[in-house]
Amino acid sequence: MSASGTAAIGGDNGDCALAVHGGAGTIRRDGPSARLADSYRDGLCRALSAGREILAAHGTALDAVTQAVASLEDDPLFNAGRGSVFTGTGTQEMDAAVMDGCDRRAGAVAGVRGPRNPILAARAVMDHSEHVLLIGEGALAFCRQHGIAMTDPAYFFSTERWKALQDELELRRRGLALDDDDQRRHGTVGAVARDLYGNLAAATSTGGMTAKAPGRVGDSPIIGAGTFADNATCAVSATGHGEYFIRDGVAFEIAARLRHGSQSLHQAACAVIDELRNIGGRGGVVAVDRAGAVALPFNTAGMYRGYLGPDGSIYTAMWDEPYRRS
Ligand code: ASP
Repeated sequence: MSASGTAAIGGDNGDCALAVHGGAGTIRRDGPSARLADSYRDGLCRALSAGREILAAHGTALDAVTQAVASLEDDPLFNAGRGSVFTGTGTQEMDAAVMDGCDRRAGAVAGVRGPRNPILAARAVMDHSEHVLLIGEGALAFCRQHGIAMTDPAYFFSTERWKALQDELELRRRGLALDDDDQRRHGTVGAVARDLYGNLAAATSTGGMTAKAPGRVGDSPIIGAGTFADNATCAVSATGHGEYFIRDGVAFEIAARLRHGSQSLHQAACAVIDELRNIGGRGGVVAVDRAGAVALPFNTAGMYRGYLGPDGSIYTAMWDEPYRRS
């Protein structure tokens, strides 16, 4: 079966481009939560508008992806920042990364709860340290030192996420945890962009997977797995079962196919997401290449996603369906 959401999009205007995702594994089309569909679309639209504003004012791709992801982190519907899922012991540990394709600088944090916007913590690591990835207490100390806005645990608590943890733990007790309910188990937010100057950037942020082991780090903050950007090839932000994305080096693999092979972004991204399925990996990516073409393939039932059309209009979709223009 080939990846869904795979029509080739854009790339001939050499202009700005922006695409976002809010996680692979969407709400069921026919389930009780389908009434939330409009709220999810609104969240994607807000993120795309935030990024569009920056790109339209001749801002950088780096700032656009940072703001788009921060907007999704503020929305409790998405599994990142405020809406982060719980670990198996009821804690929350967030991961985030940002990468500038201009010079391949990158910053990431893992296993943190405290920064109101983990993506801003990742950005601070990139901008103000000599490191790429800071974790846990050290990362939090760094954030305080650099004036990153911190907030208390109550801000990150949601009844829905707590219930999802209880459901997952119950399924595990009954030996049924390996079901296909992507929505209940994971999610992540991410953005990729190309600015007027031809620079590419990617940003990703997540609470990880429901009931993950404390200390587990997924693909999102791992450069080359869940996040990657290089002006010479493309920018990629992934979502899905992180262990598989790490093992396949998904984001870097897509870029490598552009660099060394003759595949287009669309072909490379679709092929890598198809191949991921062969080892059992579920999820998708949003990606943009140096010409501004975007690809948004996934191998799950759906992926919250959207992009800017050439005239700046916003297109969103959740399942394998035509994009809706807003
Ligand atoms: N990739 C994230 C992780 O494994 C979760 C997700 O995108 O659903 O932590």
